[in-house]
Amino acid sequence: MAFKGNITPFEKKVWLASPTMHGEEIQFVQEAYETNWMSTVGKNINEVEKLACEYIGCKYAVALSAGTASLHLSAKLAGIEAYGVPEVGHGALEGKKVFCSDLTFDATVNPIVYEGGIPVFIDTERESWNMDPVALEKAFEIYPDVRIVFLAHLYGTPAKMDEIMSIINKHHAILVEDAAESMGATYKGIQTGTFGKYNTISFNGNKIITGSAGGMFLSDNEDAANKVRKWSTQARENAPWYQHEELGYNYRMSNVIAGVVRGQFPHLDEHIAQKKAIYMRYKEGLKDLPITLNPIPDNTNPNYWLTSLIIDETAMCKQVRGERDFAYIPEEGKSCPQEILDAISSINAEGRPIWKPMHMQPIYRLNPFIVRDGNGRARTNAYIDGSSADVGMDIFNRGVCLPSDNKMTEDQQNRIIEVIKACFN
Ligand SMILES: *Cc1c(COP(=O)(O)O)cnc(C)c1O
Repeated sequence: MAFKGNITPFEKKVWLASPTMHGEEIQFVQEAYETNWMSTVGKNINEVEKLACEYIGCKYAVALSAGTASLHLSAKLAGIEAYGVPEVGHGALEGKKVFCSDLTFDATVNPIVYEGGIPVFIDTERESWNMDPVALEKAFEIYPDVRIVFLAHLYGTPAKMDEIMSIINKHHAILVEDAAESMGATYKGIQTGTFGKYNTISFNGNKIITGSAGGMFLSDNEDAANKVRKWSTQARENAPWYQHEELGYNYRMSNVIAGVVRGQFPHLDEHIAQKKAIYMRYKEGLKDLPITLNPIPDNTNPNYWLTSLIIDETAMCKQVRGERDFAYIPEEGKSCPQEILDAISSINAEGRPIWKPMHMQPIYRLNPFIVRDGNGRARTNAYIDGSSADVGMDIFNRGVCLPSDNKMTEDQQNRIIEVIKACFN
């Protein structure tokens, strides 16, 4: 049966993941204001860089305007290291293929294209919903000249880093790590954001801690950190006038934003604990349904940024998605992501589809896509052909992100659980 809508909607919307402020933030912002460091220099910036190094365990951190800016400068660094300095006006990756996560936000991937590179998407494995090491190894067989891998940790769950790192090291490649969603998560006790040579975290408004916006470049490499610091402030040389010998960017974090981030840092562990409690409550509340939550592999401590579920294949009602629209046919005992999203929004809460895989996106549809069993390019319409879908497409088809806001009360979450259950009635 379709969702019947007999639960009273929330008066105040329950968000997927919204900023959770604590009070210290405004004090650091106030301090920036009163001392007039309303700029891209100041104490808040210095402090958040220190806090990030301490918490995550890296030598250098450079605060930037966005995680995307950090990924862009990482792409540039990796490109120059692998292929040399480009002519001005050309990207460091001009015409070069780069392996990257497929089931992720497009901010992981776009920076490769900013630099002229060609993303080659690597399919996903089922144990962590991250880059499949088997498909990555296959990709190196098909494209042995590739030297750079961009990897994201989906929804705060670390990828299979032992396997991934051994493949990357074997092929003498550079890892660019996108820990935007996974700050504070660990793999075998090691923080995400420390595995790559160049690493990124994000303070975007819906991340585990936020500055309203902002991001950070992390590395143990001093030259790289100095380059990012220079490039992000328009690449001025040390000269009496504005002397430019390299292409610059306006990517530095504002000291006002840094004040918000500074106030959030002490609450990171608390946010992770809240997110974990949300995951556990969904796990308990939904345990009788034909679904599973996003997997938690052994040896990992995720930050539980977003709880997601995937519906058993046998419990999927008919759902069709076009490029921008969808339809489904409600069926007794069955449901589908779009029905669950409709049900959640009918009580004034916010869910979200799983990230639509990059290889299914119109702008990237002609890019190579590597699956573990394929021999090169997998067709995006494989599922429609009757052959099995690739893993990323399958998770997108059957999965959905649930409201995971820190401030959601137990009562609210119980009501969300009830409407999800009703979808399967
Ligand atoms: C949020 C996010 C980013 C981008 O971070 P911004 O700070 O918003 O630029 C990059 N990658 C992933 C996987 C993200 O979720």
